[in-house]
Amino acid sequence: MLKKIIASLLFMLPFMLLQGQANYFYPNKGNFDTSIPTPEQFLGYAIGEQHTRHDRIVAYLKELDRLSDKVSFEIIGETFEHRAQVVAIFSSPENHKNLEQIRLQHLSNQLNGTNNKVPLVIHLAYNVHGNEPSSSEAALLTAYYLTASQSEQTKEWLNNMIITLDPVINPDGRDRHTHWANMHKGTPAVADPNDREHNEIWPGGRFNHYWFDLNRDWFLGTFPETRNRINFFHKWRPYVQTDHHEMGTNSTFYFDPGKESSNNPIVPDYLYKNIYPKFGEYFTKAANSIGSMYFTKEAFDKLYPGYGSSYINFYGGAGFLFEQGSSRGHVQETTTIPITFGFTIRNQFTASLATITAALAEKENLIELRKQFYVTAKQQAASSIIKGYRFSDPNDFNRTKAFIDLLLLHRIDIYKVPNSTDYFVPTAQDNYIMVKSIFENQITYKDSTFYDASTWSLIHAYGLPFTEVKSSMVLAEKINTPLVFNNTPIVKSNYAYLVSNTDYNIHQFIYALQNEGVFVQTATRTFNTNINGENMNFGFGSIIISVQQQKVNADELYNIVSNASVAANIKVHTVATGFSNSGIDLGSNYVKTLKKPEAAMIIGNGVAASEAGEIWHLLDQRLHMPITKIDILNFARVRLERYNTLVMVSGAYNFLDKNSVDKIKAWVQDGNTLITIKSGADWAIKNGFTKFKLAVDSTTTKGRLDYDRASDMEGAKALGGSIFSIDLDTTHPIGYGFSKRKVSVYKNNSTFFQNSTSAYNTIAQYTNTPLVGGYLHPNTLKMIKNSPSILVGAEGSGRVILFADEPNFRGTWYGTNKLFLNALFLGSIMTAPGADYSEEVDKH
Ligand SMILES: [Zn+2]
Repeated sequence: MLKKIIASLLFMLPFMLLQGQANYFYPNKGNFDTSIPTPEQFLGYAIGEQHTRHDRIVAYLKELDRLSDKVSFEIIGETFEHRAQVVAIFSSPENHKNLEQIRLQHLSNQLNGTNNKVPLVIHLAYNVHGNEPSSSEAALLTAYYLTASQSEQTKEWLNNMIITLDPVINPDGRDRHTHWANMHKGTPAVADPNDREHNEIWPGGRFNHYWFDLNRDWFLGTFPETRNRINFFHKWRPYVQTDHHEMGTNSTFYFDPGKESSNNPIVPDYLYKNIYPKFGEYFTKAANSIGSMYFTKEAFDKLYPGYGSSYINFYGGAGFLFEQGSSRGHVQETTTIPITFGFTIRNQFTASLATITAALAEKENLIELRKQFYVTAKQQAASSIIKGYRFSDPNDFNRTKAFIDLLLLHRIDIYKVPNSTDYFVPTAQDNYIMVKSIFENQITYKDSTFYDASTWSLIHAYGLPFTEVKSSMVLAEKINTPLVFNNTPIVKSNYAYLVSNTDYNIHQFIYALQNEGVFVQTATRTFNTNINGENMNFGFGSIIISVQQQKVNADELYNIVSNASVAANIKVHTVATGFSNSGIDLGSNYVKTLKKPEAAMIIGNGVAASEAGEIWHLLDQRLHMPITKIDILNFARVRLERYNTLVMVSGAYNFLDKNSVDKIKAWVQDGNTLITIKSGADWAIKNGFTKFKLAVDSTTTKGRLDYDRASDMEGAKALGGSIFSIDLDTTHPIGYGFSKRKVSVYKNNSTFFQNSTSAYNTIAQYTNTPLVGGYLHPNTLKMIKNSPSILVGAEGSGRVILFADEPNFRGTWYGTNKLFLNALFLGSIMTAPGADYSEEVDKH
């Protein structure tokens, strides 16, 4: 039966092409301008027959711009792999002549929405997850339709709207999947789910170049793709923004309204009451008209401000999510008839036109939404006892700078506090809803099952000391541009240079020196010394660069240190004596020479791509340091001797055979450092790398309950992502550079350690009342409080470091990156407790 259906579908496909694709994708839509090439004519194949490469998508939009005065085309940036990020703008030729004027009128309407003669601005965006490809093909059809359709309705749209269209949010990921699908396509196409076409190789096309999920990045702004897009968003501030996805092959189609219990409580209610249900009527009508099955209301949330379908909700607009059951490939079997790529494209295209129809018809409603949004935001700010947030870390310029960069990206008002190094963000500002999302750690939600994180307070992610200000403040100088480092030239030394390690960029600085062959040392005890007539304290882990103990001469060293200092915005002190006022002297046995990290990470099948990507990105982009990514399938033939540090993030590591496990053990015993994170730590414990033990799960539901309650009950136990406080041992190398013992960490997993039986192994421990923000099931609280968060075990001459949490989460946890980087850079000086000094002095 199935074969018969596939055969008939395949028979129909060429027939469809002969008829032109119009009948399939847009039946009864009237005449088209024949001077505009259809996507099929331009590409040389029918939409749905092939996956379209990103460069061909860009070329088609460029061609429409060339041929039609209804279209303009803009490059807004490029990806890591040098693919252009493009936007096409569709409107009447008349509007196109006055585009900039319309934009400015539209923006000046933001707060009051009085002038409803201004064309309505909406944004259609596609394919954020590269291997959810149907929507970019639908973008081509939408672009063609808006340019070539001669219907009265299309004219009305273009006369009254500015429609901006981003065909591919994630160009690098899309092409990764596009090549996969096209290179494995059979003739005839193979619908069997076992075929290689339907089973992409690790890490898949979902992610961007660094294996990050760009559909979480709208809030975090880690990537240039996102930052360019956010700047375009604020340039236009659309009323509507779409976000098209795909889900499992056996699912149908999803459109809003979503799950009612997970409406974001700080976003004004008007959106949920008056916009989503209303737009849902248009989507319903459109899907019914082509006979497509769908669902609404039962899944997906827009709580988190970092989705493509939610970011706009925090600026007085409406974000819409579409999810299509995936053919993942050109045709694939389902529990009913096989699903074709063309079918998935048609649903996305139909939803695109339905969005445009709804937006124009509901223009008054959307203007009212924006008006209500700003009124409600103002009321919420006025009724808040918090008048603003005051923050900064004067000892960490680069972390403070990064946070301010992010606030500026989101168009948040920031001021300098007079006579202080602090900054102040008032709550009384237009973008209060975003301010609250960035600074508040505990917003109460109705539902306890989260699609993703349950808290996202960025001030905690950046780990910046801050206070909630409850009285009014005098607003001084406004910050409008990124902070610039006050870089006073270093005084040349003939003795030594000293650097505090409190700054975020300290590891970038150290690596730059090590890479030039400079010996860098660290003080494992504190000291106070005279710098230029002034006594200064240096904390645990301060950096010492002696002038004599180098292979380069004093002048060369001076140049290397100066360059590294400028590149990393790091303050370097010149010292003329090794004798300290108090604490250790610079030649002390407590001063250790650091080994340059020669790092490798196991990646590939069964390893968490996004966690590995966080590390790859951190080292590449922020430290300018290479890390070798070893595919797990090649691990057996890799000689580990050339590395001194091996990283294992979350993963099952089933592809490591016994020989490989033994090889890693022997290598650790030889004096090297194994860093394990989350389930990577579970793996190390289960495979006997250390004597530490995992805590036994005590969260099992007891008694008898109805079957349909299971997903809510069990879902509520999952630690989707919450913020906890730990007590950090700041005298241990992993804690170096932290000024306070209490640190916020991000946890989204179920790795829990038992307490260590020896005194000095627990580098960080969750506090007695650990929850800082987010949701936590009471049973999980019992497991987590007072348990270890970071353990270090000395094994032979080496060591195994275990992280229960994710210190590099989504490239945004500036507050805990240092824990991981310390593990990477200082592993070699972590010796068995108590042995670090006595061993050395005994060897006289
Ligand atoms: Zn998706």
